[in-house]
Parts: sequence; structure tokens; C-alpha cells
Amino acid sequence: MKRQLFYVSGLAMMLMASCAPKVAPAIPQDKEIESKVESILKDMTLEEKVGQMTQITITALADGTELTQAGDSIMRTYKVGSVLNTPGDMAQAPEEYNRLICQLNRISMETTGIPCLYGLDHVHGTTYIAGGTLFPQELSLAASFNRELAYNMGKVTAYESRAANVPWSFSPTMDLGRNPEWPRMWESFGEDTYLNSELAVAATRGMQGDDPNHIGPQHIAACLKHYLGYGVPVSGQDRTPSSITASEMREKYFEPFKECIQAGALSLMVNSASNNGIPFHCNHELLTIWLKENLNWDGVIITDWADISNLHTREKVAETQKEAVRLAINAGIDMAMVPYDCQFAIDLKALVEEGAVEMSRVDDAVRRILRLKFRLGLFDQPDTKLADYPEFGGEAHERMAYEAALESQVLAKNEGLLPLDRNARVLVTGPNGNSMRTLNGGWSYTWQGHGASMSRFTEKYNTIYEALAEKFGTVTYVPGVEYDLESTLWSYETSNVAPAVAAARNADVIVACIGENSYCETPGNLVDMHLSSKQKDLVKALAATGKPLVLVLNEGRPRIVDEIVPLAGAVVVAMLPGNHGADALASLLCGEENFSGKMPFTYPKFSNKHAAYDYKVSEKTETMMGSYGYNAEMVVQWPFGHGLSYTSFEYSNMTVDKKEFKADDVIKVSVDVKNTGRVAGKESVLLFSSDHYASCVPDNKRLRGFEKVALEPGASVTVTFELLAKDLAFVNSKGEWTLEEGDFTLSAGGHNAQVRCVETLIWEQPDID
Ligand code: BGC
Repeated sequence: MKRQLFYVSGLAMMLMASCAPKVAPAIPQDKEIESKVESILKDMTLEEKVGQMTQITITALADGTELTQAGDSIMRTYKVGSVLNTPGDMAQAPEEYNRLICQLNRISMETTGIPCLYGLDHVHGTTYIAGGTLFPQELSLAASFNRELAYNMGKVTAYESRAANVPWSFSPTMDLGRNPEWPRMWESFGEDTYLNSELAVAATRGMQGDDPNHIGPQHIAACLKHYLGYGVPVSGQDRTPSSITASEMREKYFEPFKECIQAGALSLMVNSASNNGIPFHCNHELLTIWLKENLNWDGVIITDWADISNLHTREKVAETQKEAVRLAINAGIDMAMVPYDCQFAIDLKALVEEGAVEMSRVDDAVRRILRLKFRLGLFDQPDTKLADYPEFGGEAHERMAYEAALESQVLAKNEGLLPLDRNARVLVTGPNGNSMRTLNGGWSYTWQGHGASMSRFTEKYNTIYEALAEKFGTVTYVPGVEYDLESTLWSYETSNVAPAVAAARNADVIVACIGENSYCETPGNLVDMHLSSKQKDLVKALAATGKPLVLVLNEGRPRIVDEIVPLAGAVVVAMLPGNHGADALASLLCGEENFSGKMPFTYPKFSNKHAAYDYKVSEKTETMMGSYGYNAEMVVQWPFGHGLSYTSFEYSNMTVDKKEFKADDVIKVSVDVKNTGRVAGKESVLLFSSDHYASCVPDNKRLRGFEKVALEPGASVTVTFELLAKDLAFVNSKGEWTLEEGDFTLSAGGHNAQVRCVETLIWEQPDID
């Protein structure tokens, strides 16, 4: 897209064009759909319009999977346009969804002639449908640095959701997980902007298919969340304020959303919290100007759970509920996840009648909702049938989830202990050693993930103990520390170390599976980043036996393990690899498969020292001249991009096709990668850039490209990146994209090349592609 530019050379600044052209629509519209939307909208009553803007939870309408009389009446009275959630707070069979959603659609068609839009949180596969396929959580998937796996997850999720008559998922999550205390870290693709953008775009394409105007019955609408900067609450606690600057917001947090929107994403959910005092749900600039105007995006903006009410009850920026509705709708919200009652619809109708909300704003919202329903094909075919989806939960889908689990586990340390001998006597221990719940994490059959402990959902999958028992000669399991795996909440642990230590004496190797029980959102808040002392004591006692020790970290965020890592011969950061995680781990531990995961976040070593890899250069300084030391250190447990393999890769011949560049240039960067070890392996080649000097303190480095290659022993490949020069720009303190004259280092695998930007450029328009 052509953009307006300022060229700055010395003191002279030249305005290239004076009036900004209107940005092309993020999603080119389909004329037929638009005219159908208009013809429906013009005959709608105000009640029908505010009803379309209302989304209610199924638990307010149904008793389990049975629609109640009261639920039927709520749907009809308020002409509710959308319903969410899993009935009975638990995954249900696809047949049950089919039946229930058919009923809702029938009511909707009878009352308004507009189909209902049903949405579920399918955040790592088909998480709320019994028998569906569960992938690794997004944080794990990010460790694979493999776009295809994210695409597969989106595609399978879409197909299996449609099998159950569900056309909409509240995913992908693309909050940058940059505060490791945050209890939703595992829902994101890690700490980096580019990695989040690439994997979220791939997942969105997988979900929606190639044509956002005609989604078709094999695909669903994505809902990008949570807009914006949810992953960096200052306190580390869920739904608490962030303090992001406007330039950082645009440069780092907005990018993944922008990329997905430009790739056709049809809807977006707002961050529940506030930034620098302004709740996101009433931030007109971020909702209306950045998204709807600057990107010219015609998709739907939905609130998070009760977040209009929360403007009154929690954020205290509105004195009444009704005032909260006015603030949110005027800021640009299109649909309210109410979620239990329809007071929102009553308030909004009154606000329009009083002139406090313009009818044009309501029409804009309803147009977007109707457009989404047309794009999904719901008017032509409101319901899908399970029989048309023979692959639901089938082997092909499960295989894709297994492959994702293989590539998403990170070998963080190995002092020659792995791979393990298949004849070894293995003691599996630790609270995560025999649990499907901990492998999956939250949003797995139930919100908090405890549903994964129920055999009716996960009986056919292996825990780590079960998977290892299939691979190795003698395997015993003695937990040492246990969670309460049945309880909804996650915090209880009991300890009984002695039997585990006794069992270790008869083993050749100990595999200690430690970390966290499952949790989700606010119940997962943490006040201490350290791994629990019960688990650390278990590891110390096991290590004292002198037996070789493998630590498997099965956790949704990095718990501090500094004290116990030196006791282990090998450490696997397994994160939350899903239903197939244990089988994948067993194949990796015995060397049948090779590790290829890399850290998608910086693993902290100390609880008070968090920093993402793109910290500001001034956060790490050498000793200053003078009589006393004055340095700032950056000590981490494992850096972003760290990950070992059973083979070795050698990088050489890093070249660039130009040493000097301007903003419109493409820089071709190549590097040779060779497998110099004895086994086959996959390597994620990561390309970083570092700006030497800039008018705003530069970042340490930034990920600009990645490619995953598979190499047999002795084989080599040349990996070429086409780096757009404008991708090296940053956002200055005035919020403008800026590329400054000066030197940059490009690096991959410890090799680097120098390039120089020869012309400073400041973009006048807010977004630059
Ligand atoms: C979460 C969202 C989720 C929504 C609907 C909220 O509590 O923050 O991520 O999509 O509930 O279940």
C-alpha cells in the first residue's frame, strides 16, 4: 500500500504528499453481502438492533444442555444475537451442541429472521467439545517456531467446531506474554511481537480459510484477543493495569493485531484491564481510530466477560451501569458479552432514545454483526450436521497435534544424559508425572482445566508415566508431591518425599515431572514466582541419591528453578504440550525423535529480574570509568531462542545483498546451516537485527525472521530471508514510525552482517504496510 512519507535529511524535511489517501479496506467488501446487510438493517427496530449487540452465556439460558423455558423467553424478549460458552461449564458431545444451537437458531429465525452467532473458547484446538482434538497451548506451539503447526491448529479447530455447529472461536490469543507472573502467559505465543504476529496470522488463516467474505462450512471466524497489551500487567496479576507508552503500544503490542486484521481476521475481543488510567473498553482512540479508521477494518469488536459492567463496578470510570454502556458503545464496542442478563440492551435502547448514543453508532455496530453472520454463511445455512464432518477427532487430526507436541518441547540442558537407554529402569516422579490435566493446562474440557482429569475426556491419552512405560523396560511412578487434581482450583500440594527417594535407589534414572497444576485467568494469580518449596525439596532429596536426574518442567509460565537446575543432568521445558505431550516426550527422551523447540520467552533466573530479550540496551551496561563499579547485568536462566538438540548445527557464510539501504528496499540475507552431528534434526533459524544508535534508546535486538529447516546428518541448506527495510523501523516518542540513518547488525546463529541505512524516514501515517 502506498503511504505518505516524510524524508528527513539533515535539517531539511520534505513533505512528500500533503493529503493522506484513504486507506484501502483491511478486508475488501463483497457488494452482494453489503447490500443484503443494508436491506435487513433498514427494517430493524431499535430493540432488534440492541439485541444483535447482546451476547449472553448459555448457562443463563440452559440447564446443562437443555434450553429452559426462561432461556427461550430471554432469547425472544431481548432478541439476543449471540450466545457463548459451553453448557454445564463442561465440554459436551458434538451432538449436544448441534441440537442446542439448532434450537437457538430456530428461536432467532422465528423472532428476527437473523441467525444466532455461537462462540466458544477454542484456544488450543477444540477444547470444549468432547472427542475433539487438543493441541499444545499457544506458548508451547510458539516454541516450535513453525507456522505450519499453528495453521494446522487453526484448521482443525475450525473443522471440528463446525462439526458441532459452532462457527466462531475466541482465538487466537496474541497478547505478548512479557510478564512471566501473568497467569495467562501460556495462552500467548510468547514474548515477541514478530513471533506472535506470524503464528497468529497462520492460525487465523487456518481457521478462516482464504476468503474472509465467504468463510464456508469448513471454517470459522477468528476472534483476536485481547486488544491490547493484556500480557504486561504491572502487578503481574490478571486484569490489572498496564503502563505501556503510546509508542511501545504501536510498535510492539498493536503489530500482531494489525497483521491479523490485514490477513482478514473478522472479529476482536478487548482487554479487560486499563492502560495508564484508561480502560481499554472505553478507549475511543484504540478501538475506533486505530482499528476502524486507520486500518479501515469492518470487523466486529466484542467486549470480554462483563467488561462493560466492569467499567462501573471495577474500573470506577462510570457512576452507573448505564453510563458504562454509553462510554463503551461510543468508544467503538459492537457487541457486549453481558454475560448473564440483558440490562445492557435496556440501557442502550434508552441511551439512543435520549440521544446519548447516536443511532448511527448503533447502526455501525449492527452492520458489522450482520456482515459477520453473512460472511459465515449463516443466513444460507444456519446449522451444520456432524455427519458431514467424518474427520472429527480422527487420526489425521490427532497426528497433527502429536507433531505439534514434538516440536514444542525445549531441551534446555543436557550434560550427555539424554537420550536415555531404552533398557534403563526409570523412576517417574513429581506431581506432574501422571496427569492429563497438567499436560493440557486451562481451557481444557473445563475453564480451569480440571476436566482433563476426567477419564471420560482423556482416557485414551497417555500421561508421562504411561507414555514412558510404553517406551522403557521398567518404569515406576512414585509422586513424592501431589496436587489435588480433582479440585477446580490449582493451589493445593501435599508432600511425601520418602517413598520417592526409596524408589530412586532402585532406578537407573529419575525423571522428575514438576511445575504447576492447571489454572486459568485470575484464579491463577501468583505472588511468588519460585517453584513451590515442596517440589524443590523433592528434587533435592532425589538428587542426593546420586542417581542421574532429568527435570521435566510442565508449567504454563516460568517458575524459578535456579536452585535445582544444577542438580539435573538434563532439563526439558515441556510447558503445556497437550493430550499428545507425553507420547511426544517419551519419543524425545529415548532419542526416537529429536528436540527442535526453542524458548519463545526469556526464562528468568531470579524472581525480581524479568526482562524480555528485546530489553533496552541501557538495561545491560559495562562498568563505567571511575573508582567504583556501575554496571547493569542481564542474567537469565535461558534466553529467548535457546534450545538444544541431539545433533549440532553449524552456521556459515552469512551474506547480505546490499550493504546500504533505504526504506523501500528489500535486504536479502542468507546463511548456510549444516547438520554436523550424527542424527537428523530440525533447526529454527532465527534472524535478529540490532540498531546501533537511534534517537530513542534502541532495543537490544529484535527478531525479524525465522525459518525451520529439517536436515539429515551432513546435509546443509542455504536459508534466505527477504527483510523489508521498513521492518527495521521503530516508533518514536511522538508515535511515528521512524527509520534512521545509521548502522544495523543482522545476526543468525552467532554470525552477523553489517548494513547501513542511508536515509532517515518518518512515516506520517500511523501504520506502515
Ligand atoms: C476471558 C476471555 C474469554 C471469555 C469468554 C473471559 O473471562 O478473558 O479470554 O474469551 O471469558 O469465555
